Amino acid sequence: MNYARFLTAVSGARKPSPIRLLTELQQRSPPSLISLAGGAPNPNTFPFQSATIQVKNGQTVTFDETAMKRALQYSASNGIPELLTWMKNLQKDLHNPPTIGYSQEKGQMDMCVTTGSQEGLCKIFEMLVNPGDNVLLDAPTYSGTLAALQPLGCNIINVPSDQHGMIPEALKEVLSRWDQSEVHKPCSTAPRILYTIPNGGNPTGASMTAERKRDVYKLAQLYDMLIIEDDPYYFLQFEKPWAPTFLSMDVDGRIIRTDSFSKILSSGLRIGFVTGPKPLVDRIVLHIQASTMHTSTFTQLMVSQLLHSWGQDGFLQHIDRVIEFYKTQRDAMINSADKWLKADVAEWHAPSAGMFLWMKLRGVADTQQLIMEKALEKEVLLVPGGVFMIDSSDPCPYVRAAFSLSTPEQIDEAFRRLSLLIKEAL
Ligand code: PMP
Ligand code: PLP
Repeated sequence: MNYARFLTAVSGARKPSPIRLLTELQQRSPPSLISLAGGAPNPNTFPFQSATIQVKNGQTVTFDETAMKRALQYSASNGIPELLTWMKNLQKDLHNPPTIGYSQEKGQMDMCVTTGSQEGLCKIFEMLVNPGDNVLLDAPTYSGTLAALQPLGCNIINVPSDQHGMIPEALKEVLSRWDQSEVHKPCSTAPRILYTIPNGGNPTGASMTAERKRDVYKLAQLYDMLIIEDDPYYFLQFEKPWAPTFLSMDVDGRIIRTDSFSKILSSGLRIGFVTGPKPLVDRIVLHIQASTMHTSTFTQLMVSQLLHSWGQDGFLQHIDRVIEFYKTQRDAMINSADKWLKADVAEWHAPSAGMFLWMKLRGVADTQQLIMEKALEKEVLLVPGGVFMIDSSDPCPYVRAAFSLSTPEQIDEAFRRLSLLIKEAL
């Protein structure tokens, strides 16, 4: 893989911060080293002293004075070492990426911690997307992705999808506009990146089959594309075994995967991680050095302590409880949808992962006005589908309903109100 081919001029021009390098050197040196380098403030002047955090299972996460000083201090831009080690073991056990152990040139795997997967995604796009580039994705897609991509001035090309996500035959058809043998020519306009949400898609709830992923990966090989695998609902797959990921199929080093703790540990702590070829992860870390410097050390230590005390088994047991909750919520929402919206009002596919039900409202050409004006009067709120479209001004008959936060009773009442609203609008 020639990663230089994929980098924007801005990303290619990033250089390591000399002070950050010294800080990392210092962290690897014996305590006898007297360092007058680095610009770390003296934590003795900070007001916070110690902390004890109760975990729901009765455990505690404690920060004594020494741990607290570390939690309040600057730390490495790629993440604190013990969290990275834990995460690397998890990725290896869950995905067993075949690129591990490959030589540097071929794209050895690496990881970094990010302030939520949104930060990772935004930095990935800024690393790879030039104005005018053709970028592939399956719309409707996460509005946060569109918010990060569209201002870069790229040309987003939609790849048709269904309830199983991106359709490989449709991707092949889109790619047939370009000659495979010419993609490496400097003048080629062939897309170099493809973005997709493989499980419990936001907003569609769609999940890709292993077979579709294999076919999409093969096309990415033919056209020498990178695949951005944005998988925040990976741990919210209701049925086991979980589908194999793009990362698990990555023999070339062309997958950049973003994971998120937002749906399983906390969305407000802001923590996620990027896994991908080392030359690309290095570029993201240089961007972090120049922007946030690193994800909150306090957040990382808190999460790391919990994960180490749980071990991988404890973590996966926690995930099972989370899945159980969302699965019950999904069932409740489908029941209420069957009760109030079936047949003449709306249509949908029950999602097998994630937090969203994507519904097409019959007889409503565009849900924007219905939701933003009339739904509020009836005291029910959903997201009009247009916000997930590449061109948000196109009429869209869909709405997104989240089953994450409301009780089954509230969901039922919301759908009753929605059915009245739609019947009145017809
Ligand atoms: N600006 C200047 C002039 C600084 O010295 C520093 C910290 N060394 C920063 C910005 C970054 O500060 P923060 O830790 O709040 O990101
Ligand atoms: N990607 C997708 C598909 C999402 O749905 C979300 C959150 O809604 C994110 C990324 C952002 O997640 P995080 O909270 O980890 O930044």
